[in-house]
Amino acid sequence: MKCPECNNELNKTEVEIEDAQTPALSYQCSNCDYYNFEPESTIKVINELKKKESPLKIKQKIIKLSQDRLGMYFNQDIVKSLNLRSGEEIFVSVPDNKKIVLEIG
Ligand SMILES: [Zn+2]
Repeated sequence: MKCPECNNELNKTEVEIEDAQTPALSYQCSNCDYYNFEPESTIKVINELKKKESPLKIKQKIIKLSQDRLGMYFNQDIVKSLNLRSGEEIFVSVPDNKKIVLEIG
Protein backbone atom coordinates (compact mmCIF):
# COMPACT_ATOMS: atom_id res chain seq x y z
CA MET A 1 0.00 0.00 0.00
CA LYS A 2 1.30 3.42 -1.00
CA CYS A 3 0.97 6.71 0.79
CA PRO A 4 -1.77 8.83 -0.81
CA GLU A 5 0.24 11.96 0.02
CA CYS A 6 3.74 11.17 -1.20
CA ASN A 7 3.47 7.71 -2.78
CA ASN A 8 5.99 6.25 -0.39
CA GLU A 9 5.51 2.66 0.84
CA LEU A 10 3.36 2.61 4.00
CA ASN A 11 4.34 0.72 7.12
CA LYS A 12 1.63 -1.50 8.55
CA THR A 13 1.62 -1.45 12.34
CA GLU A 14 -0.55 -3.15 14.91
CA VAL A 15 -1.78 -0.74 17.53
CA GLU A 16 -2.79 -2.14 20.89
CA ILE A 17 -5.90 -0.50 22.23
CA GLU A 18 -6.71 -0.50 25.88
CA ASP A 19 -9.54 -2.88 26.85
CA ALA A 20 -9.68 -4.41 23.36
CA GLN A 21 -8.21 -7.80 22.52
CA THR A 22 -8.01 -7.18 18.78
CA PRO A 23 -5.27 -4.77 17.81
CA ALA A 24 -6.17 -2.07 15.30
CA LEU A 25 -4.09 -1.93 12.15
CA SER A 26 -2.60 1.36 11.17
CA TYR A 27 -0.68 2.57 8.15
CA GLN A 28 2.11 5.02 8.66
CA CYS A 29 4.25 6.79 6.16
CA SER A 30 7.93 7.10 7.05
CA ASN A 31 8.37 9.95 4.60
CA CYS A 32 5.56 12.36 5.43
CA ASP A 33 3.34 12.33 8.50
CA TYR A 34 0.46 10.46 6.85
CA TYR A 35 -1.23 8.15 9.33
CA ASN A 36 -4.39 6.14 8.98
CA PHE A 37 -6.23 3.27 10.61
CA GLU A 38 -7.41 0.36 8.54
CA PRO A 39 -11.20 0.77 8.63
CA GLU A 40 -12.04 -2.94 9.00
CA SER A 41 -9.87 -3.48 12.05
CA THR A 42 -11.08 -0.21 13.56
CA ILE A 43 -14.68 -1.37 13.29
CA LYS A 44 -13.75 -4.67 14.97
CA VAL A 45 -12.16 -2.84 17.87
CA ILE A 46 -15.10 -0.46 18.25
CA ASN A 47 -17.57 -3.36 18.26
CA GLU A 48 -15.51 -5.19 20.82
CA LEU A 49 -15.44 -2.16 23.10
CA LYS A 50 -19.18 -1.61 22.68
CA LYS A 51 -19.91 -5.16 23.77
CA LYS A 52 -17.86 -4.68 26.90
CA GLU A 53 -19.56 -1.43 27.78
CA SER A 54 -23.11 -2.67 27.48
CA PRO A 55 -24.25 -3.62 30.97
CA LEU A 56 -25.95 -6.89 31.69
CA LYS A 57 -29.68 -6.29 31.32
CA ILE A 58 -32.09 -9.11 31.98
CA LYS A 59 -35.87 -9.05 32.11
CA GLN A 60 -37.21 -10.79 35.18
CA LYS A 61 -40.51 -11.19 36.99
CA ILE A 62 -41.17 -10.14 40.53
CA ILE A 63 -42.39 -13.14 42.46
CA LYS A 64 -44.60 -13.34 45.52
CA LEU A 65 -42.80 -14.67 48.57
CA SER A 66 -45.23 -14.49 51.48
CA GLN A 67 -48.13 -12.19 52.35
CA ASP A 68 -47.19 -8.80 50.90
CA ARG A 69 -43.51 -9.54 50.47
CA LEU A 70 -42.18 -9.73 46.94
CA GLY A 71 -38.92 -11.11 45.70
CA MET A 72 -36.74 -11.74 42.71
CA TYR A 73 -34.35 -14.49 41.73
CA PHE A 74 -30.86 -13.77 40.48
CA ASN A 75 -30.30 -15.85 37.40
CA GLN A 76 -27.01 -17.64 36.72
CA ASP A 77 -25.57 -14.92 34.51
CA ILE A 78 -25.91 -12.38 37.29
CA VAL A 79 -24.67 -14.78 39.97
CA LYS A 80 -21.61 -15.69 37.89
CA SER A 81 -20.71 -12.20 36.76
CA LEU A 82 -20.93 -10.79 40.29
CA ASN A 83 -19.74 -13.93 42.06
CA LEU A 84 -22.73 -13.84 44.43
CA ARG A 85 -23.07 -16.28 47.31
CA SER A 86 -26.05 -17.22 49.39
CA GLY A 87 -26.08 -15.36 52.70
CA GLU A 88 -24.14 -12.43 51.28
CA GLU A 89 -25.32 -8.98 52.36
CA ILE A 90 -26.29 -6.35 49.82
CA PHE A 91 -27.52 -2.79 50.12
CA VAL A 92 -30.71 -1.83 48.37
CA SER A 93 -31.34 1.76 47.37
CA VAL A 94 -34.04 3.41 45.30
CA PRO A 95 -32.61 6.45 43.47
CA ASP A 96 -35.89 7.16 41.66
CA ASN A 97 -39.21 5.47 41.00
CA LYS A 98 -37.81 3.50 38.02
CA LYS A 99 -34.70 2.08 39.57
CA ILE A 100 -33.60 -0.30 42.27
CA VAL A 101 -29.88 -0.36 42.88
CA LEU A 102 -28.32 -3.34 44.59
CA GLU A 103 -24.87 -2.79 45.93
CA ILE A 104 -22.66 -5.61 47.10
CA GLY A 105 -21.37 -4.75 50.56
ZN1 LIG B 1 3.71 9.88 2.76
